Amino acid sequence: MDLSLIEALLETQRVAYVLADQQLVIVAAGGPEYIGQQAFPLVPGEALLAVVPELAGSEALIGEVLAGSLPELVLEHISRPRVDGASAFFMLRLRAIGRGAGPAQLLAQISDTTELSRLQLLAQDELRRVDEMKSNFVAVAAHELRNPLTPILGYLELLLDEESGPLNADQRTTLEVVLKNVLRLRTITSDLLDLARIEAGRVELVLRPTDLHTLVSMVCLEYQPQITARQQQLELVAGTVPAALCDETRAVQIIGNLLSNACKYTPAHGRIRVRIGPGDEGFVLVAIEDTGIGIGADDQPYLFDAFFRARSAAAQGTGGTGLGLHITRLLAELHGGRIWFTSAAGQGSTFYVTFAISDEPPYEPGAASAERNHSEH
Ligand code: ADP
Repeated sequence: MDLSLIEALLETQRVAYVLADQQLVIVAAGGPEYIGQQAFPLVPGEALLAVVPELAGSEALIGEVLAGSLPELVLEHISRPRVDGASAFFMLRLRAIGRGAGPAQLLAQISDTTELSRLQLLAQDELRRVDEMKSNFVAVAAHELRNPLTPILGYLELLLDEESGPLNADQRTTLEVVLKNVLRLRTITSDLLDLARIEAGRVELVLRPTDLHTLVSMVCLEYQPQITARQQQLELVAGTVPAALCDETRAVQIIGNLLSNACKYTPAHGRIRVRIGPGDEGFVLVAIEDTGIGIGADDQPYLFDAFFRARSAAAQGTGGTGLGLHITRLLAELHGGRIWFTSAAGQGSTFYVTFAISDEPPYEPGAASAERNHSEH
């Protein structure tokens, strides 16, 4: 093929090439001048690593490319200043050629990806902007939907307390169905509002040294009526652990959510055991174990995704938004801890969450309310 044709092709495609020997010394180079000479410069006799220092540290991988055990090595977003002061971006693709007929040589293609990177950055900015708009919209909508629920709940309670006159059995049943659905609506709007706030970085934790035993006991007490109603047994096993750094309200929300799920996804007469003990180094662990419906292996990877509900939950017919665990994980991670679970379909689940140990003695936790979560279930 005519060499000038190849040069023209390289020019239009904005690709330079460089050939290097086994010692990574450049033996030949070509392509657009602004890449080969200005940006890098690809001069025969020079060491490839001197021209592309970004390759330093990848010598073992380059060896593998030369040996044929790695098909290629790609470096993206290599930045070089342009004459006008802006940055140009390049991608380098390394392959071995000529293996078999003598020692292999390295062929590096260096392509100008400035335009692509610029478009990617623009797309990322646009995505961020749309995401912010979505979070703002959700926050405003959830807030506006939630506000009228307070007077509705107030008047429902008045009616159910027979403050406005006696109710017959049918009226009471009807009002109780309304109440259940209003409470459900309140949970959904609270979850959406919470999610929007966390995503917008508007949730600030007030971390204080906390005695987790006291805090978890408080949450257990809060959920006891729900657990008793399902004739389940709740056991709290607490070892001696140091104070943990928690935001009281949010830690109550985390434990409350896990406990509420354990109750919800465990049939009547099941057992729930909450354990507090040492976690990973520097952390206290809270484990919430149930003998419930469990989670199938297929569903497990998605359990913390927003709006995800496992098939076992859907089959059980229990209502829910699939937002609780997503929010719980975001909150646990905001605390600097982690959350995970072990489970098998039909064999119960154990959820684990860790909180960082504090160097200071615990302060006395107040009465942070676990009122919000799933109170209607
Ligand atoms: P919700 O309970 O509103 O559906 P969550 O985000 O709290 O949403 O939980 C997501 C899903 O994880 C649930 O729908 C259920 O399928 C599953 N899940 C959570 N906790 C348990 C549990 N203790 N046992 C079995 N499944 C659970």
